[in-house]
Amino acid sequence: MFASRERSEFGPVDIAFTDRHGGISSAPFDSLDVSRSRPGRDAELASNLARLANAFAVPGFATMHQMHGAEVRVVDVPGLAPGRCDALVTKTAGVALCVRVGDCVPVVFADAATGVVGVAHAGRAGMVAGVVGATVDAMRSLGATLIEAYIGSHVCGGCYEVPPAMRDEVAGLVPAAFACTRWGTPSLDLGAGVRSQLDAAGCTSNDRARCTRESDDLYSHRRDGDRSGRFAGLVVVRGGERD
Ligand SMILES: [Zn+2]
Repeated sequence: MFASRERSEFGPVDIAFTDRHGGISSAPFDSLDVSRSRPGRDAELASNLARLANAFAVPGFATMHQMHGAEVRVVDVPGLAPGRCDALVTKTAGVALCVRVGDCVPVVFADAATGVVGVAHAGRAGMVAGVVGATVDAMRSLGATLIEAYIGSHVCGGCYEVPPAMRDEVAGLVPAAFACTRWGTPSLDLGAGVRSQLDAAGCTSNDRARCTRESDDLYSHRRDGDRSGRFAGLVVVRGGERD
């Protein structure tokens, strides 16, 4: 169920990235698909989220209708779905945040000292739109100072082939994303691009990524197209009142 899970050494923050195991979805979405909706499968998705909430020991998740943009929402009620946006931040203990991906970069943010956390959906378009910096700005507005970022699994630069003009356009805005596939054609390294943006924003990066396309226990739209599910990046601050 969890591809990686950790507790911040600085405070009671739990961070996790899921894999595709431990849910009830049947093939080809087997089994822990957490997509927003899927025709005829909404009961499966709800059950998967409930299983995940139980395993993560939270009442539910704040989820997004992700748009490949840079809009950030602040949430302070557990389980709220705040609508169309690509990042969530909170300073409320017990409010678990969820970002869903299947090749885009999931980024989880935590300032354990102040209890401010966030998640961002940073695919090609979101990265270019500046969702990483916008999330950091929103966390700082809530009082965050020293922000640790965790970069989850996404399609790697060796696999993410794009047309030459697209690589030029993106690399013109995010130079670190310029890459080549293993077979020598233009590609984008979204992880490197996001990392460069985290560096520029003054965050410490922790790499928890594998390549989704190359990892059968993760979902990958590049590999499986419309037959791909989505996995999740999660964060919650445990405990009661904070200053
Ligand atoms: Zn790869």
